Amino acid sequence: MSAEDIERPPHRKIIHIDMDAFYASVEQRDHPEYRGKPLVVGGGPEGRGGVVATASYEARKFGIRSAMPSKQAVKLCPEAIFVFPRFAAYKEVSQGIRAIFARYTDLIEPLSLDEAFLDVTEDKLGIGSAMEIAKQIKQAIKDELRLTASAGVSINKFVAKIASDMNKPDGLTFIGPSSIENFMEKLPVEKFFGVGKVTAQKMKGMGLHTGADLKKLTEHELTRHFGKTGRFYYHIVRGIDNRAVQPHRETKSMGAEDTFGSDLSELDEMHEELDKIAEKVVTRLQRYQLKGRTLTLKIKYHDFKQITRNQSFAIGIDDLVTIQQTAKALLEATDTTKKIRLLGISLSNFGDNQQGAVKEISGQLRLFN
Ligand SMILES: [Mg+2]
Repeated sequence: MSAEDIERPPHRKIIHIDMDAFYASVEQRDHPEYRGKPLVVGGGPEGRGGVVATASYEARKFGIRSAMPSKQAVKLCPEAIFVFPRFAAYKEVSQGIRAIFARYTDLIEPLSLDEAFLDVTEDKLGIGSAMEIAKQIKQAIKDELRLTASAGVSINKFVAKIASDMNKPDGLTFIGPSSIENFMEKLPVEKFFGVGKVTAQKMKGMGLHTGADLKKLTEHELTRHFGKTGRFYYHIVRGIDNRAVQPHRETKSMGAEDTFGSDLSELDEMHEELDKIAEKVVTRLQRYQLKGRTLTLKIKYHDFKQITRNQSFAIGIDDLVTIQQTAKALLEATDTTKKIRLLGISLSNFGDNQQGAVKEISGQLRLFN
């Protein structure tokens, strides 16, 4: 990691999408007789009783909440309808929403069946604004799946997630860079990631009720009282959250390619173009903190015949020199007497260990911010 990597502030556009009362909304969609009624999806109140998985908005008016024992729910609202979850149906809807997300970005980090972070910095469709992308996604979910979602838009994951929860249901909330610190100062401590009931009690005991109170403590004091997470609080209360959207298996490869105005016939020209393409690839990899273990070179000849050549590495790579040299070496091992109309370089094989390593690096980066 060079000093340059640490200092560069991430300019990201993050959307957090969360379906509204997900299981209950799917049941109301599929069963018109449940619409407009207090509906509880989960274990029933009979016998030893189950637990509420999701309550419809009508049921929430009675104070029914997720994770509440169904016996308690029935006391709050005796006319509530109880139904068992149909996970196969929810999974199908989940695939539907992910397919919609994928039209707008390749960087999707699902948190559960009905919730995901999207990094739309790249703006695949050239829409121009993250708010407009969020609006379009919400509309597509409404039109195609007949369900509503709430979206939060901001420059980092933490704030986007809080924003999506602010105007539910069917909400769309933007918290921009200039309002983040002010927003964080007003936020009650229990709204902070990782602040469970015990920590919240401890904070309140110390007179810490909001972000503004947390902000008065030094990084050292926060770490002393709350361990490692204290450092996270220190940064997050200042609106700093550099965690990347982790696409897991969703991003299979990342690269760039160029079709040339006139076919390339000289090796020098080919090298020059590969250098430029490699720069684009590196910018994208670094933006998303990805390292690939396999580099693939794509060549399309003047006659539209296409070949690919690849090389794998023991560890993930994302540095310019390695990518340029590998691409050129792969090119030189082909028949370079044929005229070329397109060259492309992509990295793949990001792997799960890789994701762990990436998380560790971002953790270390936070120390320096
Ligand atoms: Mg939800």
